[in-house]
Amino acid sequence: MRLSNSESEAGQLRRITPGGVSSPVRAFKPFPLVIDSGQGCRITDIDGNDYVDLCMAYGPLIVGHSCPRVAKAVRDQTKKGSVFGAPSHPETKLLEKITSTVPSAEMCRMAVSGTEATMHAVRLARGYTKKNGIVKLNGGFHGAHNTVLVAAGSGSVNGTPSSLGVPEDDVRNTYLVEYNDAGMFESLLDRNEDIAGIIMEPVMGNVGVVTPKKGYLAEMRKITKEHGALLIFDEVITGFRLSAGSAQGRFGVTPDLTTMGKIIGGGYPAGAFMGKREIMEMVAPNGPVYAAGTFAGNPVSAAAGLETIDIMAEKGRYDSLEKKTQTLVARMRDALEDSGVRGCIQSIASMFSIYFGVDEVTNGSDAQKADRDMFAEMFDYMLHHGVYLPPGPMEVEFMSAAHDEEACEKIAKTFEGFLKQVKK
Ligand code: PMP
Repeated sequence: MRLSNSESEAGQLRRITPGGVSSPVRAFKPFPLVIDSGQGCRITDIDGNDYVDLCMAYGPLIVGHSCPRVAKAVRDQTKKGSVFGAPSHPETKLLEKITSTVPSAEMCRMAVSGTEATMHAVRLARGYTKKNGIVKLNGGFHGAHNTVLVAAGSGSVNGTPSSLGVPEDDVRNTYLVEYNDAGMFESLLDRNEDIAGIIMEPVMGNVGVVTPKKGYLAEMRKITKEHGALLIFDEVITGFRLSAGSAQGRFGVTPDLTTMGKIIGGGYPAGAFMGKREIMEMVAPNGPVYAAGTFAGNPVSAAAGLETIDIMAEKGRYDSLEKKTQTLVARMRDALEDSGVRGCIQSIASMFSIYFGVDEVTNGSDAQKADRDMFAEMFDYMLHHGVYLPPGPMEVEFMSAAHDEEACEKIAKTFEGFLKQVKK
């Protein structure tokens, strides 16, 4: 496989941008590939190599790269203009769609990214409850703003900043609990009266895929209600992926606030936070909680997001995507078991992740025990055999409506090929 164009451009990038990437998860050794184009479930790098894509831009592309219908919606909107600094029709239609589809969304406010959405939701939770404490999950990721940039660590402890430049004061009111442990969360609330709420992914997606134990989400709903704290579901990944009603629709647990990004922008930058009318009415200009953005509700992103959501709303789309994913995952699990290599594949709907060296991952601490070196070996093997995974072991493999049988066959065969050559 010739990669000389990528190698040279990656070198150029390293000189002009830190690490040669615009977001750290994209970096890998010896150099990240520079991508030229994407079509359906495949991408092509600037050396002309094709890959079946399982990264899918980390989640927004549920209908695939360059989906003709989404591309047309974008073209139609760009002919009319790209941004107005005023309400626009695509924004109205997207807001209408979100508030009529997502159970918790009585009202919704658009933003530009998942990071912004969670930043605003956290501020809103604090403003509404007049409390300061924010609880997050160990291993939970909610974007790159100060309150949630807290190092992983177990126990109900105050966090320490996970980045230089975040003052300790900014995370003094951020607390960590483990996923799938409602008791730990409840005892924190019993001991601390200054908790505004918890921000959590209903299905963890930033330590690989970790699903809720039976009753866990309902228990979190009950505990927050009893303690006057808000339940915030960060559905930046799971929004419109786990079902049209998102994770909350699938599990039948309605949070007070929800954040989204990724799919609602259909491959263009977007974010949103939404929830109970009484809480959302606190947002400026109606209320005293500030949220704003030049590009918030951008009409091009809204048009792309709306078309994507409309495509997925067609009969059978979610079911067939899930079936296709689960058939592939079942085959990969069989291959893993037959190979004798220790590991597990965790999955829900059209998301899955592969862990080596562990049998099950139920929370952020478990995920830390997975064998990262083995994942790196697999990543490298898959890449050189034409399957592009997200480079990090804690990321999610995303399937899309555009993944065809040939692509699934290629993914499974390549994974089997990798397992065969692992030295035991
Ligand atoms: N929340 C979750 C759950 C995420 O996975 C991410 C990004 N992967 C974010 C928030 C931040 O979103 P963005 O990258 O659009 O700022």
